[in-house]
Amino acid sequence: MKEIKIKDYLFEHGIRPVNKRVKIMNYLVSKRNHPTAEMIYLELVNEIAGLSKTTVYNTLNLFVQEEVVHALNIESNELRYDADISQHGHFKCKECGEVYDFSFNKDLIQDLRLKNFVLKDFQFSINGICSICHQH
Ligand SMILES: [Zn+2]
Ligand SMILES: [Zn+2]
Repeated sequence: MKEIKIKDYLFEHGIRPVNKRVKIMNYLVSKRNHPTAEMIYLELVNEIAGLSKTTVYNTLNLFVQEEVVHALNIESNELRYDADISQHGHFKCKECGEVYDFSFNKDLIQDLRLKNFVLKDFQFSINGICSICHQH
């Protein structure tokens, strides 16, 4: 997505597209690496004058609140952020720390105990060892 598109996208979701927000969103959209706030800060601190960790956290919270980004609880000790808000699951490799996307259909969940329940915040994550690490 071009920066101008990101500006429009943020604006459409009620987020004032100031430079820092556009840069952080651009990072999330282009890298698709499910970063932590710390990773985003370290990547962008040299690129954005006066960027603080607080700004990164506040921006991410705003993005989550306005639902342009999902916060992922893949592990209890860290939040990861994903600009792909379509329905998909995550696989985190315990060896290399990489987070992989996978697709699934939530209609596959057929449990009579949840009959007539409405599923809203839906996260599906798996921990394990990825195929690359598994070969070594
Ligand atoms: Zn791995
Ligand atoms: Zn994802």
